[in-house]
Amino acid sequence: MFGVQFSKIINDINYVLLPPACFGCNAQLIRGEQLLCTVCRYDLPITEFNFTQENAVDRIFYGRVPIEKAVSFLFFHKNGIVKSLLHQLKYKNQEEIGAFLGKWYAETLVGQRDFPKLDAIVPVPLHPKKQRKRGYNQVTLFAKQLAHHSKTPYQDQILIKTANTRTQTKKSRLNRLLGSRNLYEVRNPESIKGKNILLVDDVITTGATIESCAKALIKVENVRVYVATMAFVP
Ligand SMILES: [Zn+2]
Repeated sequence: MFGVQFSKIINDINYVLLPPACFGCNAQLIRGEQLLCTVCRYDLPITEFNFTQENAVDRIFYGRVPIEKAVSFLFFHKNGIVKSLLHQLKYKNQEEIGAFLGKWYAETLVGQRDFPKLDAIVPVPLHPKKQRKRGYNQVTLFAKQLAHHSKTPYQDQILIKTANTRTQTKKSRLNRLLGSRNLYEVRNPESIKGKNILLVDDVITTGATIESCAKALIKVENVRVYVATMAFVP
């Protein structure tokens, strides 16, 4: 009893000394708000893409790689809330943002009639070195929420990143596109033969990462790839 009260007091002190700020606009959060203030929550640019209609994310992959369907939760705008959220998630140790977005997205997506029958949910992997350095894969908690709500196995050992491309951010787009070939490999391909896989990532910009991952997956006989991401750059 004392322990519980004590931790509540510590929380209250923390709250006064370090009031949590909104990850979207940096305003001080009030009690009951988590991660985002109410204004930012309402302002989140949700795409409302579904698994039936063709959308702008699908079109990114036309002629590049056969993806069954691609959807994204949010629009990623320059200097917007989503950019700020994903920056915190990726570079500022705010891993729980992934769970927050994943839960929200899963609750709107999984119940839809057109949600496909899936066999595995696979996150876009980081190179092991990079993951050690960051301490986590920013996609994990988001993907796990989708897995949990759709009752689909979460499998992060199927697709692995074989080359570390950290230095590639400085190269030109062309080099990056060329360089993105064969960066990913499927481990134990037999295990995914004939399966429907939902590939999950944070944000789609050029689509090169998803293209590269999807190409590795569809090398396996009768694999169908679906894509869901937190955001995409329109
Ligand atoms: Zn805000």
